[in-house]
Amino acid sequence: MATPTKEFSRREMNFGSSHSQRPDPMQILHPFAGSVQQYNEQLSNPDAHRPSHCPQCQTKRPLSAHGFYTRTLIDTAFDGVIRVRRYLCNACQRTVSLLPEFILPYLRSSLMVIALFLVAHLLGGQTLEAAARSAPPPMPYYQRGQFWIRRFRAQAEALCAALAALTKPTPASDFVHRALTMLESTGWIAAHRFLFAGVRCHLLGWPRGLAPDGRRAAFSSAGAPA
Ligand SMILES: [Zn+2]
Repeated sequence: MATPTKEFSRREMNFGSSHSQRPDPMQILHPFAGSVQQYNEQLSNPDAHRPSHCPQCQTKRPLSAHGFYTRTLIDTAFDGVIRVRRYLCNACQRTVSLLPEFILPYLRSSLMVIALFLVAHLLGGQTLEAAARSAPPPMPYYQRGQFWIRRFRAQAEALCAALAALTKPTPASDFVHRALTMLESTGWIAAHRFLFAGVRCHLLGWPRGLAPDGRRAAFSSAGAPA
């Protein structure tokens, strides 16, 4: 497999435990609102959020429970490993994983940790160190924060355009401030749900090599290992 690019370093990435760190073929959002602990508690029931049809071949039959994969997660009050439920389509034999909504695909930190940091630094004008303190838990934020900021700046204009479907664009000096204000008024999780489920847009931009639908893109021969 290709190694992550500099923009998405291994430190920030989270491909989960399956397929020797390759992502699942497709991730869809688990419509779950609550704490990490509540997420873990309801995970034993495969019927709770079983997809009623296959999002890949559109077969209109409920998918079969197909185990879990594990991934690490850093949230405001949690730092550990969570399970992500997988389902199998018996028609096309492909799997789908149900990622909880408080997670951005392929990123280790939760959406809320990233949001708190970006708002404190880019909207509140706090230093990286101060912004890190407003986004617990304590961790080496400098590099990680720089990474989020860089990704967010690159994505801001596209976010403004996409989020205009949900909320009125607010006057702001630049796209970064406008996107943050729109995310704050929409709610980060609601915005993520719309972006990811609706238009297959990653709030911080897809890692290079992953197609917009979340599948790993086919690598050209130039990019393949010799
Ligand atoms: Zn299918």
